Amino acid sequence: MAKKQHTWDDDVAELLRVGPDFDLAAMDRGATPGWSAGKAEAASLMAAHGEELSDLQERLFADAKTGGTRSVLLLLQGLDTSGKGGVVRHVIGMVDPQGVALANFGVPTEEEKRHHHLWRVRRQLPPPGRIGVFDRSHYEQVLVVKVDGLEPADLNETRYDELVAFDREIVEGGTTLIKVALMVSHAEQGERLKERLERPDKWWKYNPGDIDVREQWDAYQAAYAEMFARTSIDEAPWYAIPADRKWYARLAITELLRRALRDLDLGWPAADFDPEVELARLAATARD
Ligand code: AMP
Ligand code: MG
Repeated sequence: MAKKQHTWDDDVAELLRVGPDFDLAAMDRGATPGWSAGKAEAASLMAAHGEELSDLQERLFADAKTGGTRSVLLLLQGLDTSGKGGVVRHVIGMVDPQGVALANFGVPTEEEKRHHHLWRVRRQLPPPGRIGVFDRSHYEQVLVVKVDGLEPADLNETRYDELVAFDREIVEGGTTLIKVALMVSHAEQGERLKERLERPDKWWKYNPGDIDVREQWDAYQAAYAEMFARTSIDEAPWYAIPADRKWYARLAITELLRRALRDLDLGWPAADFDPEVELARLAATARD
């Protein structure tokens, strides 16, 4: 008999959602909230959910082909090595790439700098039917921009309300917004950076600036805490994911995405032709 598939012990979305009592400093980054079954079992559930995710994504895509306006946007924040790229590869990689709209937000280009900071973000919002993925996002405006003092403090202070208003606008437009922050520990980030430096196949991921960012660890943690406190809203809460165990972070995000898609409750679009008539026409094309 097939072994019984382990599943979540608890409502993981509830456990990871950033509410008013959230305390980033107290968060255990190596924990696996809601999951007690270990890594091998996680891989097995991941595979099972991958199939469902793929089916749900196809429904979303099909819905838009027939006039639907829904979309999903998975926003990924996290410091270097927190695993954003791995989520794209291992979670998003389970669905048809045609249905995905991936955007990466790095240092603004000269052209982007001439516009409002949300200009480049608006252009990358997912069209109906797509799963959009933001690898970094408009939230860098209250992270790197704040920590590095790239704009005046009083202007930076206005960004929280602006970001919340922008998120509300996205949600009102029919997009389910899932805001995920991958929170790696200081020790684990050190290990991952060391690995990047010791392995030639990882050098491409390394940037000497990563150490400058690491040197500002406390300032980044404070910026994240402030971001969580001021921008986790009911319509689009933050989910703070312990990220020291990559397999856990990926499993948790798979679950958040699966739920978002299930909640859309999409069936398959009705045919705008008569299948019986078409079958008869097909039969008539037979050659002997
Ligand atoms: P990576 O994601 O490792 O390719 O690095 C992208 C870099 O772009 C990170 O160091 C971010 O801090 C930086 N970045 C992203 N958005 C902004 C922004 N709005 N202003 C300045 N730097 C940014
Ligand atoms: Mg990097």
